Amino acid sequence: MAVYANVIVDISHEKLDKTFQYRVPEELKERLEVGMQVQIPFGTRTINGYVVELTQEAEYEVSKIRPLLGISEDGVAIESQLIALASWMKRNYGSTMNQALKTVLPIRRRTKEKQRRFLKLLLSEKEAAQQLALLENRHATAMARLLRELMQEKILDYAIVTQKLHISPAAIKRMQELGILRIDAEQVYRNPVHRIAQKKYDIELNDRQKEVVNTVQKEFDSGLRTTYLLKGVTGSGKTEVYMELIAHMIQQGRQAIVLIPEIALTYQTVMRFYNRFGDRVSILNSRLSAGERYDQYLRAKNGDIDIMIGPRSALFAPFARLGLIIIDEEHETSYKSETVPRYHARETAIERARLCGASVLLGSATPSVESYYRAQCGIYRLLELTQRVEEKPLPECEVVDLREELRDGNRSILSRRLQELMEERLSKKQQIMLFLNRRGISGVVACRACGEAVKCPHCDVTLSQHGDGRMVCHYCGYTEPVPHVCPSCSSKYISGFKAGTQKIELLVKERFPDARVLRMDFDTTREKDGYEKILQAFGSHEADILIGTQMIVKGHDFANVTLMGILAADLSLYASDFHAAERTFQLLTQAAGRVGRGKTPGQVVIQSYAPQHYAVRAAQTQDYEAFYRQEMEYRKLLSYPPVWNLLVVLLTSFDEKQLETDCEKLKEFLDGWEKTPQLWMIGPADASVAKLNDLYRKVIYFKTADYRLLVRIKDAIEKKQKEQLFSKEVKLQFDFNPMSGF
Ligand code: ADP
Ligand code: ZN
Ligand code: ZN
Repeated sequence: MAVYANVIVDISHEKLDKTFQYRVPEELKERLEVGMQVQIPFGTRTINGYVVELTQEAEYEVSKIRPLLGISEDGVAIESQLIALASWMKRNYGSTMNQALKTVLPIRRRTKEKQRRFLKLLLSEKEAAQQLALLENRHATAMARLLRELMQEKILDYAIVTQKLHISPAAIKRMQELGILRIDAEQVYRNPVHRIAQKKYDIELNDRQKEVVNTVQKEFDSGLRTTYLLKGVTGSGKTEVYMELIAHMIQQGRQAIVLIPEIALTYQTVMRFYNRFGDRVSILNSRLSAGERYDQYLRAKNGDIDIMIGPRSALFAPFARLGLIIIDEEHETSYKSETVPRYHARETAIERARLCGASVLLGSATPSVESYYRAQCGIYRLLELTQRVEEKPLPECEVVDLREELRDGNRSILSRRLQELMEERLSKKQQIMLFLNRRGISGVVACRACGEAVKCPHCDVTLSQHGDGRMVCHYCGYTEPVPHVCPSCSSKYISGFKAGTQKIELLVKERFPDARVLRMDFDTTREKDGYEKILQAFGSHEADILIGTQMIVKGHDFANVTLMGILAADLSLYASDFHAAERTFQLLTQAAGRVGRGKTPGQVVIQSYAPQHYAVRAAQTQDYEAFYRQEMEYRKLLSYPPVWNLLVVLLTSFDEKQLETDCEKLKEFLDGWEKTPQLWMIGPADASVAKLNDLYRKVIYFKTADYRLLVRIKDAIEKKQKEQLFSKEVKLQFDFNPMSGF
């Protein structure tokens, strides 16, 4: 039982690691928990603080440690809840308490409160239409875009217009001078909720959507809290379901958090929530400054808003009456933190919901294998939407075998069938997207004649080419020289994949000289807001063809896109990661789901070297179940998650020698553990990136069915670290069920 409590007195960021230690009086030992607010003697005063850690270890001379005075009884502060959550994260993912606290508690920084401003259209419908024609004639695209939005919404939030629509303040000013719009301060629109909600909201849910909503509402109202998995095909109306549930929460006086991958947090998505909930919504994104972020948290804490939308970190919005956490596109890898603590938003959301009596709704057209497995086991409750709204058909999808193209002498990256369809769409003035699937494939060596990639004989994942001319397995460290002919078919067409989006752009322009082409990749989106600018331009038909990497697959509906070409569909199958097939299936399905959102049905061409692979075939028929069955066979066979669990310990040091010595020490220490039945230990081996910025990196993998055993191993290693088994130069990180190789 804990003897001492470490307490923080000031929840501001800089001082989180400043803890004070107190003795826990006998009568409180049973009751005291991490997160609780306590009264403590502080100098000559009595003040309040939060318990962040309970421990047996005295930090200084025992006789000088004073007892804490009591537990505050004025209800549970939201901070208590978040601190308890931080403590859970520390235990389950491995980190210091300080790192965990910094993740969950907002940075406090005083900033001047900014007044919100709004833009109001001053023209009548007819005048506006005339003005729009004028602006379009003069190719004033930004102003035209803003006017078009204003004609729809009448009033727009200034910040949204500049941040999401990318209209410069200068352009807004110009339009003000032209008498098109007026800039108003907040007071004028004290309560925009009713105004907007009543004006705009006219979608009536269909029966299937209603059924889903009713199920969750009824269970919530009867006091049941659980985790739901909503599996709904692309365009089945999941977002409408979310909004209906949120409206219900608000009616009950509860609040909601909606997690959306940053890349899908586009103007379109944001506006849908604003239209329905107006000022009660707040949006977090990575473009906000620390001060703006803190303002949003403050609004949440003060009860000024009911809904927080954002990527992973929005999960920690300090809502005191949280009722529902929604995670859209729950299969996205961005929900896993890449920094310590390496938490997964899904698991952390479930824990937060447990702590505060909320429910969790996970949504996806292609649920992660983990989540679907849990739904099958009855841990999550499965809800389904199997049809697109208004009976819109799923796009027609054909697979072209690239090996055959090569055999027939077509060395172009565009198959003959795709070229033919492109020509036809261009002549009809419809739009085309070309998606180059390059996810996780740097270093992969594969054969263009038979489609096989070079794999590890032990782990059945693809080997990765390193600079020294060798192929390496990221899981077990196995290595072999780069082959010159294909090991399966002896063809000499074996190499790394080099074609990038830029090269494809050139080829497309050569083949279709009259088409207007836009490219979206890391280069063209590096500039601030580049991503949305390209989406906006393509959305208003300023180009016929959009070429891009996985960025183009997310979060935007283009009604006029009727053809999607997936250029090398299965490249991502070769990623040296056991998730490769899952990611491929998800990407292909999501890409296919992008087309046919408008009135004309869509068509998809999947170009593949491995047309027989189950991930490609299942994507073609949009058959999640078929994919899942096959994938689970593979996961079971090789004891990968979700059936088993993985723990990676990453050791890093600038000192290579020291790192090796410490890895050996750790291995020795782990010898005892290795005899545990049903536990596999692999390594230490070089990480896939063996050296990064002069930092040497090694990994040890553990595999077992029992997650708690992995946590115990982590605890044991952390203890050894505290006892200074390793030198100070060597740093340790833990990653449970990693999303990608190291
Ligand atoms: P998903 O999130 O499953 O891809 P959305 O919620 O974005 O689906 O819905 C796709 C499109 O269909 C959106 O434009 C949405 O406004 C529209 N929609 C959804 N539900 C309905 C409905 N019941 N009636 C009419 N339109 C709907
Ligand atoms: Zn081959
Ligand atoms: Zn291996």
